[in-house]
Amino acid sequence: MAGAGPEIERLIALLAKLPGLGQRSARRAALALLKRREQLLLPLTAAMQDAADKVTTCRVCGSLSTQDPCAICSDPARDRAMICVVEEDSALWAMERVGAFSGRYHVLGGLLSALDGVRPEDLRMEGLIERIKAGGISEIIMALPATVEGQTTAHYIADRLKYHDNSVTISHLARGVPVGGDLDWLDDGTIAHAFKSRR
Ligand code: ZN
Repeated sequence: MAGAGPEIERLIALLAKLPGLGQRSARRAALALLKRREQLLLPLTAAMQDAADKVTTCRVCGSLSTQDPCAICSDPARDRAMICVVEEDSALWAMERVGAFSGRYHVLGGLLSALDGVRPEDLRMEGLIERIKAGGISEIIMALPATVEGQTTAHYIADRLKYHDNSVTISHLARGVPVGGDLDWLDDGTIAHAFKSRR
């Protein structure tokens, strides 16, 4: 990239940090942006600034939203007795796209992992426990990946609740959610089915 200038190099270096983009894809993306200034670069700059200014984290469920509490948490039509626990916002978005769930969510922000040193205090775990302890919850749906980390996380939550309140049902999305898979990668029909046949 010699000669391109530090601005372009910085742009490429930052783009390369995005998931799914390596150095090579980042260079292609940077080139596309710079060549399409009016159609791409300027609108994207404005959209990113807008997102940086307005997007916050819902204090109830932890989801990304432009309002706090988020639109889902503050919607009186959503079932307050059901909480669907997801790893990241991408899973919440996938569920909302399908429209298979009318309750509310809790976004953990990751999964427990001994290998990666992720502990309960690194996730939005206490917030979830507090929400359940506050009462009025009849079902917790674990929409977590069928990985060791996903299962460990689900077990941890179940363990924490065991001594508290046995009236809360804990269910898991049916098989069909891929091992090591992200909910976001599933097609809409699969998500809806996994939801309906939860156990
Ligand atoms: Zn919320």
